[in-house]
Amino acid sequence: MKAVRLHQFGGPEVLTYEDVPDPQPRKDQVLVRVRACSLNHLDVWVRKGLPGVNLPHILGSDISGEIAEVGEYVGGFKSGQRVLIAPMHFCGTCTKCIAGVQNQCREFTVLGNGVDGGNCELIAVPAANVIPIPDSLDFNQAASVPLVFVTAWHMLVGLAGVRPGQTVLVLGAGSGVGIAAIQIAKMFHCRVITTAGDEAKLAKGRELGADYGINHYQRKISEEVRKITNKAGVDIVVEHVGAATWDESIRSLKAGGTLVTCGATTGPNVSIDLRHLFARQLRLLGSYMGTMGELHEVLGHVFAGRLKPVVDRVFPLSEIRDAHEYLEKSQMFGKVILSV
Ligand SMILES: [Zn+2]
Repeated sequence: MKAVRLHQFGGPEVLTYEDVPDPQPRKDQVLVRVRACSLNHLDVWVRKGLPGVNLPHILGSDISGEIAEVGEYVGGFKSGQRVLIAPMHFCGTCTKCIAGVQNQCREFTVLGNGVDGGNCELIAVPAANVIPIPDSLDFNQAASVPLVFVTAWHMLVGLAGVRPGQTVLVLGAGSGVGIAAIQIAKMFHCRVITTAGDEAKLAKGRELGADYGINHYQRKISEEVRKITNKAGVDIVVEHVGAATWDESIRSLKAGGTLVTCGATTGPNVSIDLRHLFARQLRLLGSYMGTMGELHEVLGHVFAGRLKPVVDRVFPLSEIRDAHEYLEKSQMFGKVILSV
């Protein structure tokens, strides 16, 4: 099959489109013919080099396609079925997995990070990872959904416990997590404030349901939040930007508010004034992906049309270097897709 592999870490030039042997599925696995795979910032981190990644390596977490072959021990699927693949790898038998918190399993990793992913034509995965998709979603849309929607759902619903009527600040309207979090918070009848670096992205954020947009190059986020909330601050901040926005995110919280973070795109080192943490009784939560239960829950809303995938641009797999350069410029609103 054709695949894009890394033989070394580095810039987009290390992404090599080449012939590799077809995967040989186990009897408890399903072989999927990949049709689309979306990009995440994780692809860039892994490409630049992360510990625990063995070379050569295939990137790609978010996969959609058609079933090519069903293992002998697998029931309930048939060849040709349109599916997406849960973007996670877990053992399935430890106490954490049995308890349904696969993202705390010691073997847990994201597809395309600790194990090979979907920047290729064929992938073999356990049957538990295979999820049929409705005809209403094309392959590009389906591939744009899993990682960012399960992440945003786990942050807002699983961890922060979002409730109707709350005010939620979602950083980065155009990011994958941003487009998911805005829609999920609106589904819970929250008031949503979002941020972006230009007016076009803010307008699109409002189209997704955001009530207010803050241009973070022109305004201080926390000052605008104070104006919008009549000095109260927000109940929840959805953080994934990291160093560039951390102080403003903390300042935007109301007393007893919750900051939940899943990433550090602009850098991982931040500081915190402990007096603010205890005196204002803030909650700071770390979030990593989500559980299989949460993935099925949020996909139910996507399949029913209550939450919408947002695809920015599609590149052929063979032009993956251009796709990575485009992602790193952060000009997109929504997901960048590789079509296979
Ligand atoms: Zn496990």
